[in-house]
Amino acid sequence: MPTMRQTYNVTVPEDPPSAAFPFIKQEMRRKGSVSGSVLVSTFVGLLINQAKNSKSAQGLVGLKNLGNTCFMNSILQCLSNTHSLRDYCLHNSHRRDLNNNSRANTALMEEFAKLIQTMWSSTSSEAVSPSEFKTQIQRYAPRFVGYNQQDAQEFLRFLLDGLHNEVNRVTVRPRGSVEDFDHLPDEEKGKKMWSKYLEREDSKIVDVFVGQLKSSLTCSHCGFCSTVFDPFWDLSLPIAKKGYGEVSLMDCMRLFTKEDVLDGDEKPTCYRCKARRRCTKKFTIQKFPRILVLHLKRFSEARRTSKLSTFVNFPMKDLDLREFTSDNSINAVYNLYAVSNHSGTTMGGHYTAYCRNPNSGEWYTFNDSRVTPMSSSQVRSSDAYVLFYELTSSSRIEHSRC
Ligand SMILES: [Zn+2]
Repeated sequence: MPTMRQTYNVTVPEDPPSAAFPFIKQEMRRKGSVSGSVLVSTFVGLLINQAKNSKSAQGLVGLKNLGNTCFMNSILQCLSNTHSLRDYCLHNSHRRDLNNNSRANTALMEEFAKLIQTMWSSTSSEAVSPSEFKTQIQRYAPRFVGYNQQDAQEFLRFLLDGLHNEVNRVTVRPRGSVEDFDHLPDEEKGKKMWSKYLEREDSKIVDVFVGQLKSSLTCSHCGFCSTVFDPFWDLSLPIAKKGYGEVSLMDCMRLFTKEDVLDGDEKPTCYRCKARRRCTKKFTIQKFPRILVLHLKRFSEARRTSKLSTFVNFPMKDLDLREFTSDNSINAVYNLYAVSNHSGTTMGGHYTAYCRNPNSGEWYTFNDSRVTPMSSSQVRSSDAYVLFYELTSSSRIEHSRC
């Protein structure tokens, strides 16, 4: 029933935003004692060179800044440390998917895989230049032409969408048919909607990153409840405001899934009443992705004029999202493995990444060409912008059964 459908605060890559960001010309460099930081980075360089001799230290390669490309480098490092995506590239599995399709464009996936392979096979401490990759991403998404600062989360959406299109296992999309699953119980309807999605969009990228969100609209007049199921590639969480101090990630999740009243001009048309009624709307998570990307909405939507630097306290381990599931029977526990950080203001900012090496389990700071070990106690900061969580193996077993 399309009349009940509302707009969601969910990011789906089919519909990338077209509004360009104001150009942020200056990359803000961290201030500090020059001699001190040189000493530290030399010392750390030694540590990394030592660690490089052991197998576990692979992947600790910096990326050259090509001119305000820290947003790109930050996301590339988070993806490089995404275990299953990295292995997909390292094992050349992407070739099989590329070869299966006689597609005109395969260069984005090829350059991405080449870059990941270089980052995981390099034995030198030299930073790698992502310029070939950049050429391809800007061919796919012309907004990334040039050297303006961009938003890391938007870049991630464009990149995953581009990679997905090139390795989509579906080569001929079925003709769009309007099937009605509204007579089915919600659980069944959700499954049908998911398999319909896979008939069109099915790739390694979808296997890893895509989940399904359920939105329920309940008529306050007759109690009729209608449901809509949508795939999501990440969740954009509003930052809960408490007036003072820190907020927790769970506060933000609760705000995102909070029951919303649609009244006045927003009143949807109830399917049963056949009239516009006051309704309540609520989101729940129907299907959890293997990798859950949580975007903290620090920037105002109106042309990024302000930034919230609230400290959002997020768990490194055992993020339990069971209370947000559509039915409480499934387990959904996640561990953090990467963070894209934004420091500075909307006018001058800098991106870095904190990532846990999938081989060693140790955390590192990736600041463009520099890679430095860090303590896991430093990972949580008010710069955290995009969080990458992986479903725990025990939850995964449970999910594969359904
Ligand atoms: Zn009604």
